[in-house]
Amino acid sequence: MKIGCPKEIKPQEFRVGMTPIAAREAVAHGHEVLVETGAGVGSGFADADYIAAGARIAADAAEVFAKSEMIVKVKEPQAVERARLREGQVLFTYLHLAPDPEQTKDLLTSGVTAIAYETVTDDRGGLPLLAPMSEVAGRLAPQVGAWTLQKANGGRGVLLGGVPGVLPAKVLVIGGGVVGAQAARVAAGMGADVTILDRSVPRLRYLDDIFHGTVKTGYASAGLTAELVAEADMVIGAVLIPGAAAPKLVTRAQLKTMKPGAAIVDVAIDQGGCFETSRATTHQDPIYEVDGILHYCVANMPGAVARTSTMALGNATMPFMLALADKGWKRACAEDRHLMAGLNTHKGKLTYAAVGAALGLPS
Ligand code: NAD
Repeated sequence: MKIGCPKEIKPQEFRVGMTPIAAREAVAHGHEVLVETGAGVGSGFADADYIAAGARIAADAAEVFAKSEMIVKVKEPQAVERARLREGQVLFTYLHLAPDPEQTKDLLTSGVTAIAYETVTDDRGGLPLLAPMSEVAGRLAPQVGAWTLQKANGGRGVLLGGVPGVLPAKVLVIGGGVVGAQAARVAAGMGADVTILDRSVPRLRYLDDIFHGTVKTGYASAGLTAELVAEADMVIGAVLIPGAAAPKLVTRAQLKTMKPGAAIVDVAIDQGGCFETSRATTHQDPIYEVDGILHYCVANMPGAVARTSTMALGNATMPFMLALADKGWKRACAEDRHLMAGLNTHKGKLTYAAVGAALGLPS
């Protein structure tokens, strides 16, 4: 199959859909890989790395879209990219169609067969192509939170791990899923005094088991949450209710109970955030202050570490990309219900019920 990888054009997107490692695997499977010049630069991959992997370099995006049977990307196609898609072509990328009627309409008009990373499933009920980005954001959260706490940024001037004779900072993680577990792991590794709250007792049992006492766990009742928020130097928001906006678990009034200069890192901001005072920020201007409490609310945290994120995403997408290329999308999806769950549009038809329900379209 002819597989194409264009350069991402969404502002501030530095990831790339195929790593040279993925390109090498595809070539070894007998496929042709065409990569737009400069596509990997934001993630630290030069054209020469792709050429060494056996790929060819295209002069521009138009060539990639015109010559490829399958397009592998990171972000949803932008309007100019959507205009280049056609029936018979497969698009494999993040789409997030439910809140995006304009993109949905264009994909249906194009007739493209679009398989969305975010709706591919696994045997354990997870979302294997979303999980790597949650892992990245989770591990990054204490790092950016520690920076936010520094005096020059307006923070409390507290070092997460303390020093001999000075107690470590208290980090509270609300939500103990993928993001929360990874955040707790890194915060504990930095020497902080870490507590995770969750509403799922089986999940708390699991977390208690894996952390061997290095992280405390608590049931996320409103009372305990309020008590621990008031004591914390850093609070990381990491809850998710699938398909819904994040619940507001910390009110503006509660900020007044917090230590001045404490830091909030609201990772759940991409679902609206779990603090009443959260609003999305950017990597250029990531922090703002409300009532003396610093808020870090960047909606695309993995973009800060584009190289790691690209490699993590590439590891997760590669087996699916190879199955699609080796077998063709029809057989690959027929043989793997989890990949089939990723199919969102085909030949002008919406094939994902939740998107249809959200947009009031037949599916
Ligand atoms: P997940 O499903 O693995 O975990 C969510 C956890 O929240 C679950 O354990 C669930 O039991 C818990 N939870 C739900 N309601 C709760 C409540 N009221 N109180 C306490 N816990 C509650 O999800 P995840 O992959 O860890 O993602 C967490 C959030 O991070 C999501 O909103 C996701 O979209 C977001 N995210 C943001 C970025 C970013 O760049 N900002 C990157 C990746 C993920």
